[in-house]
Amino acid sequence: MQENEHITPIIQRNKEELATGYPKWFRFLETIGLIIFFILVGIIAFRIIKVTADLWYFIIPSLILAWIFSDFIGGLVHWAGDTWGSVDMPILGPALIRPFREHHVDPYAITRHDFIETNAACALGGVPILLSCLLLKIEKDFPLSSFIAFFVFFLTLFVLFTNQIHKWAHSKKRNKFLILLQNVRVILNPEHHQIHHTPPFNKYYCITTGWLNYFLNSIGFFPKLEKLIMKYTKALPRRDDIGIEAAKKELK
Ligand SMILES: [Zn+2]
Ligand SMILES: [Zn+2]
Repeated sequence: MQENEHITPIIQRNKEELATGYPKWFRFLETIGLIIFFILVGIIAFRIIKVTADLWYFIIPSLILAWIFSDFIGGLVHWAGDTWGSVDMPILGPALIRPFREHHVDPYAITRHDFIETNAACALGGVPILLSCLLLKIEKDFPLSSFIAFFVFFLTLFVLFTNQIHKWAHSKKRNKFLILLQNVRVILNPEHHQIHHTPPFNKYYCITTGWLNYFLNSIGFFPKLEKLIMKYTKALPRRDDIGIEAAKKELK
C-alpha cells in the first residue's frame, strides 16, 4: 500500500505490485476471446450486409443509439470495477479488478499496455453478447429483431474500443485527427476525463464519449446504485481503491 501524497487519508496499493500482477493465463484467455470476438463479428457483419439493401434506414439510428449506449455500458463496467471487490480476491482480483486499481495509482500505465492488454477484456465480455445476437433473425420480414441485431452489433464493436479511447485520453502522443475528435467530444476528452481522476475517484465513469457523465452525475445515478448494493450486501464501496477510512469518510 502507498499513501496518496495529495490527500492523506487516501491509501492506495503499490503501483509496481499492481503492474506485475497481470496473469499469463488471463492474457491467454483474452487472446482466445479476441479471436472468437472477431469471428462472430465477421459472421454477423455478413448477415447484416445481406439485408442492408432493404433495411439501410436502420444503420444511422442504430449507430447513434449504440454510440450513446456504449458510453453507459463502459461507465457501468468502469464503476463496478472501481468500486467493488479487491485485488486479493481469487481469479477475479488479478484478472479483472487489478487493472482498475492500477489505473488510479498510475494513470499512464495504460499508455504502455499493448493492444491485447488494453482491449481484449472488452472483447471477452462481448463474446456472449455476440453469441446471443446470432440467435436474432436479421431479415426484412423481422424489422424489430433486425433493428435489435444492428444495435447490439454496433454496441459490441463500440464497447470493444472503449478502453482504447480511454487510453488515448491519457496518451501524450496523439495525431491531429485524434486531438480533433477529442476536442469536438466525439470521443472522450482528456480534460473532461481528468475529473474522474480526482480523488476519491467517485464520478464521471463514462469513458467512450463522456456524454452521459453530466446527466448521470446530476441525478446521482452511481451513488444511488451504491446505496442500494450496500443495503443488501453491507460491502463498502471503494474500500480497496482508496482505503477503508477514506471510503467510510466518503459515505458521510
Ligand atoms: Zn476509474
Ligand atoms: Zn483514466
